[in-house]
Amino acid sequence: MSIPVERTLSPKPKPADQNKLGFGNYYTDHMFLMNYDEGEGWHNPRIVPYAPIALDPAAMCLHYGQEVFEGLKAYRTQDGKTLLFRPDRNMARLNLSNERLCIPPIDEEFAIEAIKELVKVDADWIPTADGTSLYIRPYIFAVDAHVGVHPGKHLIFAVILSPVGAYYPEGLNPVKIYVENTYVRAVKGGMGFTKTGGNYASSLKAQDEAEKLGYTQVLWLDGVERKYVEEVGTMNVFFVIDGKVVTPALQGSILGGVTRASCIDILKSWGVPIEERPISIDEVAAAYDADKLSEVFGSGTAAVISPVGELRWGDKVLSINGGKIGAVSQRLYDALTGLQWGKTPDTFGWTVRC
Ligand SMILES: *Cc1c(COP(=O)(O)O)cnc(C)c1O
Repeated sequence: MSIPVERTLSPKPKPADQNKLGFGNYYTDHMFLMNYDEGEGWHNPRIVPYAPIALDPAAMCLHYGQEVFEGLKAYRTQDGKTLLFRPDRNMARLNLSNERLCIPPIDEEFAIEAIKELVKVDADWIPTADGTSLYIRPYIFAVDAHVGVHPGKHLIFAVILSPVGAYYPEGLNPVKIYVENTYVRAVKGGMGFTKTGGNYASSLKAQDEAEKLGYTQVLWLDGVERKYVEEVGTMNVFFVIDGKVVTPALQGSILGGVTRASCIDILKSWGVPIEERPISIDEVAAAYDADKLSEVFGSGTAAVISPVGELRWGDKVLSINGGKIGAVSQRLYDALTGLQWGKTPDTFGWTVRC
């Protein structure tokens, strides 16, 4: 399938200050669209000017949330190349989400080609300032005009692009995280392992309450016993205990992050012990009390590595590594960003040229 390109006749001005992009504030001049209609399959791929999408007021995505999405980035290297980081992983995960939400699978290789084409069309939107990148948001939603609960037969696959700033303009600042005891995000058998809007809708309340208490995000515990650690708002979580790195195993309620998988592979390549297993919040607190919890950090595409300086669990406050970034977090951050911006040789074969 070739992808026709309709270029905009009125390009937007680019954001004036690349050091003040923030996250999700600006969108480029074009978007990718493709339709699914029962009987025809996925068809009519096209790159068109960025513009509102008209929906029937009864469109199913607006009522029952049949929607999935992905998030990855394009990075501009010092010698002017554009790199994607493991886009095959994102497209495989999109199909995993699709399967759970009764959305017809997409052709993963074709979707990567579509993303590359779109990024090329809007290449002059990729910011070049240190730590900036072009965030890529693929998403699929059901548009059938039908207020009845069943899988949609008409869907749209879209990709939009957003130039984003360095997540930590002042360097890697450890964040304060609130351990959530009241609300839960997901349970086994639910949709926790997928990237679907509903998971985020259900997280807003806890996030809002944590922010009011001065915390950046929440750490979710398992939905059954409120005992085992799951993940942080939009990041997977790692603990460094007694020289070993521990991260919760993927058991259906946690999102399998591309950054998480990459951290595990990098740690293994360094010979650092890494365990994927259930880890309870009591074990974390006990390790802290025994002075064996040296680092906690989150991993995700947006922030790469986000060191945690404080964990609040009920009345207990765990101040981690004196509120400073730890050695493992810093080393992983440097390794990942080195690969993503093409500053270090890609011995893993993870980067893909646009
Ligand atoms: C996207 C996301 C992550 C991180 O995944 P990456 O592929 O590393 O960006 C972790 N947890 C949740 C809930 C997410 O939505």
